[in-house]
Amino acid sequence: MSLKSPIVISGAGIGGLTLAQALKSYNLPFALYEQTPELLPIGAGITIQSNATKILEPLNLIDPIVKAGTLIHELHLHTHTGKLLNKASLEKRSHPTVGIHRGKLQQILSTGLESLNLGNQVTGFSEINGQPLLHTNHNKNIPGCLGVAADGIHSAIRKQMTNDTLRYSGYTSWRGICKDPGNVLERHLAIESWGPGIRLGRLYIDHDHIYWYATHNQPSGETLLEPKAFLNDLFQEWDPKVIALIEATEESQIIQADIFDRKPIQCWHSGNVLLLGDAAHPMTPNMGQGGCQAIEDAMVLAQAIKDHAPNMNLAIQTYEHERVKRANWFVTRSFRIGQMGQLENKLLRWMRDLSTQLTPFEFIMPE
Ligand SMILES: Cc1cc2nc3c(=O)[nH]c(=O)nc-3n(C[C@H](O)[C@H](O)[C@H](O)COP(=O)(O)OP(=O)(O)OC[C@H]3O[C@@H](n4cnc5c(N)ncnc54)[C@H](O)[C@@H]3O)c2cc1C
Repeated sequence: MSLKSPIVISGAGIGGLTLAQALKSYNLPFALYEQTPELLPIGAGITIQSNATKILEPLNLIDPIVKAGTLIHELHLHTHTGKLLNKASLEKRSHPTVGIHRGKLQQILSTGLESLNLGNQVTGFSEINGQPLLHTNHNKNIPGCLGVAADGIHSAIRKQMTNDTLRYSGYTSWRGICKDPGNVLERHLAIESWGPGIRLGRLYIDHDHIYWYATHNQPSGETLLEPKAFLNDLFQEWDPKVIALIEATEESQIIQADIFDRKPIQCWHSGNVLLLGDAAHPMTPNMGQGGCQAIEDAMVLAQAIKDHAPNMNLAIQTYEHERVKRANWFVTRSFRIGQMGQLENKLLRWMRDLSTQLTPFEFIMPE
């Protein structure tokens, strides 16, 4: 069924770009509005897990992602002293898990997309006779048959729909990418290590770069301009290989972000405008699923539009029915894993480590 007006999307991040690719593959019209003037290859690393690569396969996007990134075959959880708590083999899964530079991922997801309107910030929406209009900072009102907010955790459209606030996790994060200093990590292995109120993860994101991330319990808003000395101090008793990664990273390239999510909500739409990705279900990064869930949202939504167009009410109902419960489950589980991972008390950490050793990994972090 053809549509008279396009699906208008705010935000060309992981969710918005995947939605555009999926709509394009179904020959459905869309227009994408992104606030940044250019899609620059910035950011740190990201893991795209098998539940998401499975969706990217019919869009012919897996091969370029695998080529630009590194396959992750195994996932290890360690204590900060290097003791293995648990591990998972990802090779058994039907589709690959890949570590990749976030900027490269975004560029691959944008391949071949026309209708990409950069430098347009969407400020809000309205509806006239059931037809949504997205408003931009250039005083444009863009009509569509459906409005999609894929504009991330600080979504302007969500702000208009709900008055909920961000929930601070209690910890901040630093992310960095360094040239492989040599002999610090096996190529296809991702490791996360848990210490008292601090964690550090690392994985390859291409043939000679390693992505690492660190977390630390502290109040929000304490941004460090020179984080290297602080991080060296924080991890001084850890395996020297961890310090080697921090040492090998250019200080100006270390990105600090306080970790927030929002409590899950059940309704992701208002009229014919709906939320997708972090705009709908921002989650803490503890399961590496925020981007993957945005990709799942995108494919389910495109399929629902294809199946039910021009009946957008039915498409929205189908989308929420298939996505709200699953994505919200990841929000809650990720939040809890973060609270466990950031424990400081010695006895509680001992209990956590013991239960982590005894629990099958697939139960701790299902995909
Ligand atoms: C430290 C950290 C590590 C993470 N690691 C992983 C991981 O390993 N794997 C994983 O799957 N997820 C991970 N995530 C989560 C992941 O980054 C997000 O869930 C994902 O980016 C959400 O995609 P999105 O498209 O919804 O939003 P975003 O990727 O944030 O994209 C939103 C887009 O909208 C644009 N935008 C914003 N406001 C407007 C506006 N008003 N008008 C127009 N455009 C606008 C932005 O410029 C941006 O391009 C991590 C998150 C953090 C913080």
